[in-house]
Amino acid sequence: MDTQHDHQTITSLIREYYASAAIAPYKTESREFGVGTFERKIMYRHLSFQSPSDLNAYLTEKGPPYVSYSSAYYARPSSRPMETKGLLGSELVFDLDATDMKLPCQSVHGRSWVCGICLDSVKAETIKLAEDFLMRDFGFTEKELGINFSGNRGYHIHIKKESVLGLGAAERKQISDYIAGNGLDIELLFPTMGQRGVRLIGPKPTDKGWKGRLARGTVSLLEKSPEELASMGIDRKEAANLHSKRALIAMGIKSGNWDMVYIKNKAAFWKLTLSKQAISQSDRIDGNVTNDPSHLIRLPDSIHGETGLTSKRINSLADLARFEPLSDAVAFAKGEVNVIAESPDEFTMNGRSFGPYHAEKVEIPSYAGIYLVLKGRAHFA
Ligand SMILES: [Zn+2]
Repeated sequence: MDTQHDHQTITSLIREYYASAAIAPYKTESREFGVGTFERKIMYRHLSFQSPSDLNAYLTEKGPPYVSYSSAYYARPSSRPMETKGLLGSELVFDLDATDMKLPCQSVHGRSWVCGICLDSVKAETIKLAEDFLMRDFGFTEKELGINFSGNRGYHIHIKKESVLGLGAAERKQISDYIAGNGLDIELLFPTMGQRGVRLIGPKPTDKGWKGRLARGTVSLLEKSPEELASMGIDRKEAANLHSKRALIAMGIKSGNWDMVYIKNKAAFWKLTLSKQAISQSDRIDGNVTNDPSHLIRLPDSIHGETGLTSKRINSLADLARFEPLSDAVAFAKGEVNVIAESPDEFTMNGRSFGPYHAEKVEIPSYAGIYLVLKGRAHFA
């Protein structure tokens, strides 16, 4: 069968999903909505709904493969152009996506596919953003973080606390820069760096903000194998030396003494180590989402048209730690479908493993068949 037939089949399943989904976004009446087609994630925007039941009726009628809404609240959400909507405030939103993480597995399976490593890495990153930055540094409570799976290969965090709604673009940029470590001056953290014959004094793990983060990050970096350290650009011999003396180095860092071991060219070394740390923690936060109140983002609990999974809400960080997207976000759990599949990667959904398939006709559960069709690796037979 052809792509058009595939899309018609999936659209009717999406309509069935919305007929019983009862999605109820906070402040529905103040949001701008956008819907997409299989080809384009946002095709129509400036939509608005008076109530969740109006929204659900629309989604059940149309069955759009993508639904997004504004993190901003407006007096007149359907008014256009943007300036006439009457901005009332905007949630603070963070968008983490595995494709931004430049993982080695992505050069093997390509950007449109997502593997277990991708999903585990972006989940760990989201937990770090929540616990280490939003809660530890910014003081938000766990209950104030609205977490949802993106529906494909990432997670979103929405904060709708009164105190963030009025933040302007420059303030939002400061927040995303802080999280990304942009403009972090390492020499300020090491006042004696580069001075001959003087002990290298630096941050302690218990220090606040980036200081403590860098100290803790360096200690955990030293736990990596010499091979991993070398792959980050550290001289191979130096990496072996550091790894073998990691306990001593960690002990020194606990008291702010970063000079426990003789390291050749140490200023350059620590700078490299720290800059790696900063990037590894933060490169992934999509500044555009945090900075732009007119941005539309996936509606929580809606279908994602590239997977057939839902952008499922996650109630706590403990639930996030346990969350398995390819099982917990399955929308089409019932029935089986026949597909002709061509997919070189094995994957696990709902506890069952599928593939690889080499241009073969298989009968598999609907969720797995739809997933392959939407990933462009199968057609309905
Ligand atoms: Zn991967």
